[in-house]
Amino acid sequence: MSAFADLGLSKPILKALEGLGFQEPTDIQSEIIPLLLQQQEDCIGLAQTGTGKTAAFGLPLIDKVNANDSNVQALVLAPTRELCLQITKEFSAFSSHLGQLNLVAVYGGADIQRQIRAIRKGVQIVVATPGRLRDLLRRRAISFSHLKYIVLDEADEMLNMGFREEIDDILTHCPEERSIWLFSATMSKDIRNIAKTYMDDPIEVKTHSGPAGNNKIEHQYALIHRNDKYEALKRFMDADPDLYGVTFCRTRAESTEVAEQLVKDGYRADAIHGELRQSQRDRVMQRFRSKDIRMLVATDVAARGIDVEKLTHIFHLNIPDDRAFYTHRSGRTGRAGEKGVSMVLASPGQMRFVQDLGRHLKIDFERVQVPDGQSIVQNRLQSVFADITTTNIHPKAMDHLWEIEALVQDIPKDELLMRMVSQVIIQHEKQNGGTRDLNLSKKKNREKRESTEPRVRLFINIGAVDVKDKGGFLSFVCEGAGITGSQIGKIELQRIHTFFDVDESAAEKVKRSFRHAEYNGRKLRINLGDSAVPSKDKKGKKKKNKKKKAKRY
Ligand code: ADP
Ligand code: MG
Repeated sequence: MSAFADLGLSKPILKALEGLGFQEPTDIQSEIIPLLLQQQEDCIGLAQTGTGKTAAFGLPLIDKVNANDSNVQALVLAPTRELCLQITKEFSAFSSHLGQLNLVAVYGGADIQRQIRAIRKGVQIVVATPGRLRDLLRRRAISFSHLKYIVLDEADEMLNMGFREEIDDILTHCPEERSIWLFSATMSKDIRNIAKTYMDDPIEVKTHSGPAGNNKIEHQYALIHRNDKYEALKRFMDADPDLYGVTFCRTRAESTEVAEQLVKDGYRADAIHGELRQSQRDRVMQRFRSKDIRMLVATDVAARGIDVEKLTHIFHLNIPDDRAFYTHRSGRTGRAGEKGVSMVLASPGQMRFVQDLGRHLKIDFERVQVPDGQSIVQNRLQSVFADITTTNIHPKAMDHLWEIEALVQDIPKDELLMRMVSQVIIQHEKQNGGTRDLNLSKKKNREKRESTEPRVRLFINIGAVDVKDKGGFLSFVCEGAGITGSQIGKIELQRIHTFFDVDESAAEKVKRSFRHAEYNGRKLRINLGDSAVPSKDKKGKKKKNKKKKAKRY
């Protein structure tokens, strides 16, 4: 196994890697980095998700661009806004010990003028989604006359999402003398096609190993009702006093809400998300590192800064938008050879995602049971009484006992103990939603419900290019609208849009959740499908539309 120092990377980069806790290169990194550093040729890198492809192209790219030249020298194309932001963040971390290197992320759904201004200031590396970049090229807001390197990251995803046309357009705008580095998890006909059209006899590097240093992570899931997730999280925390970890949420609002509730319920927790000021983030991270906080509640965007060792658990309160995020999330634990648990708190509608994840990342998810309330009470009693029985007798104890003697003198010792035990139980019940079993049975979950409720048909401009298949669509809607799979009926998935039936009682919620929302920089449209299933209920009860914040899509 090689070391990063043997790959030919410069000192400042090696220093940055040390700071990031990257101890040894993954297979794709050790094979492709020396090639990319030396040669001016085109290259294809194929490796599974989670194997560190960003660093595989990022490290040599950063070493190769000239920081003293303010022309755009490198372009990285990635399929989504989130990925662009991640790549940019990772690049900044890699270049933290280098001099002035300017990066900009450009993606749809954000102010284009601001992006144009950022480009005009002079940047060496542009990280972009294909749609927005094509816009910028058409507006002549960016010049590629000095471009030397083009990276197509997650080429398979970009093509799946229907970006072929944009990619074609962009590549024809690039100078002849440039290298293309294409990275992908899978090789497809479409990718071959791109390689044939634009690349010059590319060197292909393919590795088969699994995700970066991932083998120390145990992947688990618990199957619970959507409304019980928070309760389940607390049970896991109660059952294991040494539990120290991060809970992932999808939105800033959710992360704040969960952290606040945990604090209210007596846990040491706080939230971290992209909208905190740097000083606030630093303070939260400082408290987390010193274990003043045992549960950090984070969004995906904020998680990049979390490089804390010895985390025992990562919880996925909600499944991430993107498969790759799962790897990023779970990669926060199991560091430096320590064991860690990555646990998905899955509602029935999210089981497909868990299965899909297992298949793609070659992970064997183990189902675990949410600890029952009974054993948690038992744990707490153990610790309360362990405390009591090991406490030294205080010199003043007798004086005080004297004072309360009148209160307890008529109660037998056994009964006194019973009352103390009861107090622990009552306190637990007050804090937690009782001791009921939160685990769902798989069978129940599969049972077809006999729906008597009428359904309405909805249209949304999300299709197979976005969610791949019906399962993906189902999780997309359930997650986004917070409804269960059983409330959705027939799904007619088309390429770029879908008609689907949903319980009448849930329809308004679904519409509200996706109205004014965005998906990968595209405005979502949702309305009643034309061929609506005749609705029996025609009272026309128009609920007043409370102004709700658009979900992050
Ligand atoms: P991919 O693009 O192949 O899906 P990423 O580049 O997103 O994978 O990397 C997955 C995770 O592994 C990231 O959290 C990244 O910081 C981490 N990582 C990458 N390379 C290494 C390494 N050599 N050692 C430790 N962690 C790494
Ligand atoms: Mg990647």
